[in-house]
Amino acid sequence: MRGGIDLGGTKIQAVVVDGRSKVLGEHRTPTPKDAGAEGVVWALAEALRAAAGAAGVEPSALDGVGVGSPGTVDADAGTVANARNVVSSWEAPVPVGASLADELGTAVHLGHDVRVGTMAEFRLGAGKPYRSVLGVFWGTGVGGGLVLNGRAWTGRHAAGEIGHMVIRRGGARCPCGRIGCMEAYAGRLAMEREARRRHKDGNKTKLFDIMRDRDRTQLTSGVWARALERGDDMAKELIERAIEALGAGVASACNLLDVEAVIIGGGLGTRLGEDYARRIEKAMRPHVFVDNPPAVHVAALGDLGGAIGAALLIPAASSRAGSAARGS
Ligand SMILES: [Zn+2]
Repeated sequence: MRGGIDLGGTKIQAVVVDGRSKVLGEHRTPTPKDAGAEGVVWALAEALRAAAGAAGVEPSALDGVGVGSPGTVDADAGTVANARNVVSSWEAPVPVGASLADELGTAVHLGHDVRVGTMAEFRLGAGKPYRSVLGVFWGTGVGGGLVLNGRAWTGRHAAGEIGHMVIRRGGARCPCGRIGCMEAYAGRLAMEREARRRHKDGNKTKLFDIMRDRDRTQLTSGVWARALERGDDMAKELIERAIEALGAGVASACNLLDVEAVIIGGGLGTRLGEDYARRIEKAMRPHVFVDNPPAVHVAALGDLGGAIGAALLIPAASSRAGSAARGS
């Protein structure tokens, strides 16, 4: 059995899986915002303990625990830096791996959340039939993961930053500070900024009423989805603008890489689902250079995909036993 934890800006999802990645126990908890990075590490341990409890196993009996994290992940050092989506003060590297291994009494491996999610879809989800896929995680930002000829492509560490493909020179300012990035139009954070600006200018929208009705302080994926269902014009316009941006950026990436499939995940991607994946596919069409456009799928593993993918960071016990046997 292995553990997997998906660390997100709003929630922590932990799972315990067997050798075939079947979920035996799971636990979800909100990401603590007021106790710094230390508080987050503590919450990661608590979530994993609860998932292990549900699976009827002690954390120390697991073959290991994988963690998918946003920010700058140094898997070798076991540290996470620049995870401001998680805790606003989280800049310097934090030894998440060593602290968590101490707490849980088992080995801990770290990975980058989007790449972990892409590998999970490639091995277990919508990417299973293919050798080369591009994962596009449409949420607060727009993250990307690449599997080329069956192997994760990480470049020198940072490959996959599809959200910062430039789709309009001299365009909107991106949360990253640069100009004209895809994320400046399609990321939920940027969309919310634009919605607030338009609302302040006197444009009508139900977005903020729905947000308050749901006791939210931000325009979550659920708020956007509900506003679309209610036919809100501003929501429809901003989502359409996001889809056009995704179409241009994702098609450009495909022109360069010629992957077989694009997998749309992330909070908005999975919440809006199949109809919107078709709309992204259609928005890609005018920009696709290759004769044979890639297939476009919605991520199949849903909410647990990130945590199941994180568990894949732990080598299977049977193969470790095999190599140990060969070594002896
Ligand atoms: Zn950017």
